[in-house]
Amino acid sequence: MSGLRLDKSGVIGACPKCGKLNRMAFASLGKTSRCGSCREELEPVSEPLEVMDSAVFRSVIKESSLPLVVDFWAEWCGPCKMFAPEFARTAKEWSGRALFLKLNTGQVPDVSQQLLVNAIPTIILWKSGKERERIQGAVPGKVLTQAINKVESSS
Ligand SMILES: [Zn+2]
Repeated sequence: MSGLRLDKSGVIGACPKCGKLNRMAFASLGKTSRCGSCREELEPVSEPLEVMDSAVFRSVIKESSLPLVVDFWAEWCGPCKMFAPEFARTAKEWSGRALFLKLNTGQVPDVSQQLLVNAIPTIILWKSGKERERIQGAVPGKVLTQAINKVESSS
């Protein structure tokens, strides 16, 4: 799918074949899904998606069938900018196995305050609605991958 964005129920994007908008429900991520119009198989999400508000954030945490990897960042943060390509690369590697999100702490301050994110970048991993790992700083992709492996294999 192209032009991906989030709403409270899932990931929305255009079918690569017919262009019709489809929604992949958070609860069905990781399963094969098909376009509601032409039945073309839809590619799993392979890029980080921006969380625009706290309602969407609460909903994805609660409903996602895949582990979540969330990058808390800000416009003014140099290390965040350096980390972004590494995060995007790792998102591609985990396509269909983990959902990568970005949360701008300036734009959605209530979430980062609630989670006591006091340094950025901070990367928090969730599985089945529970926080499992927290990484501070712009770490190499290898470190991030190790953390995701650990979370994925945990029950
Ligand atoms: Zn289609």
